[in-house]
Amino acid sequence: MMSGSIRPKTAEEIEAMGASGRVLAGALNAIEAAVEPGVTTGALNEIAETYIRDHGGIPSFLGVPAADPGIEPFPGAICASVNDAIVHGIPGSAVLREGDIIGLDCGVILDGWHSDSARTLAVGEISPDASRLLDVTRAALAEAIGASVAGGHIGDIGAAVQKLVEEAGLTIVRRFVGHGIGRTMHESPQVPNFGRPGGGPALLPGTTLAIEPMVNIGSAGVVFDDDGWTARTDDGALSAHFEHTVAITDAGPRILTEAA
Ligand code: MG
Ligand code: MG
Repeated sequence: MMSGSIRPKTAEEIEAMGASGRVLAGALNAIEAAVEPGVTTGALNEIAETYIRDHGGIPSFLGVPAADPGIEPFPGAICASVNDAIVHGIPGSAVLREGDIIGLDCGVILDGWHSDSARTLAVGEISPDASRLLDVTRAALAEAIGASVAGGHIGDIGAAVQKLVEEAGLTIVRRFVGHGIGRTMHESPQVPNFGRPGGGPALLPGTTLAIEPMVNIGSAGVVFDDDGWTARTDDGALSAHFEHTVAITDAGPRILTEAA
């Protein structure tokens, strides 16, 4: 669901989004500190929701309606996507095991401003392949943020992700994309994780984007669980996801979802 035109934010609005993003970064740090074998994804969800509310925020994922009215609204403050789950895993009774990877995605609304961020973490010791997947996906996000400069284009961001991921022999998920963000969670423009340098809308100072590469070890295909939310790789191979909310400024890209 996309809404709104690409209206650049003012410096004041970017500050307000940064305040939202700091609450979100704090919540992700709190759940990261709790990730270990034996913990349930539901326990992580509670930690995140409590942190967000204690800091005056609203967990934006909670109650998001599904595209299909037959599917329940999203029941968590976080998405917890383990191993072959790409995104939108529902937190609950699933217990983390040594060697798992877990994608943790969360959103906050503070004073009406949205922020959106994700990271994929190792549970205990993970395989070399899993470790490399996390490193490449994290690096792809860093490259994408580096390409988020005024005077550039949306296609520069996707091209940066695509080059790094494909050179590493890994696969980009094309089914899901990043997005503009501000007063609403999903605004124009879409931010694909592939593209052509110079393609797509121009990046203006004040453009705020949620940039979120999703990378698989195997197939790019996506299948959904019966819950209607959890998206998995169609070959059961591992998937990773990293995301920051970023503002394009005259001084360069500014990550808004970092702790103070
Ligand atoms: Mg997200
Ligand atoms: Mg997002």
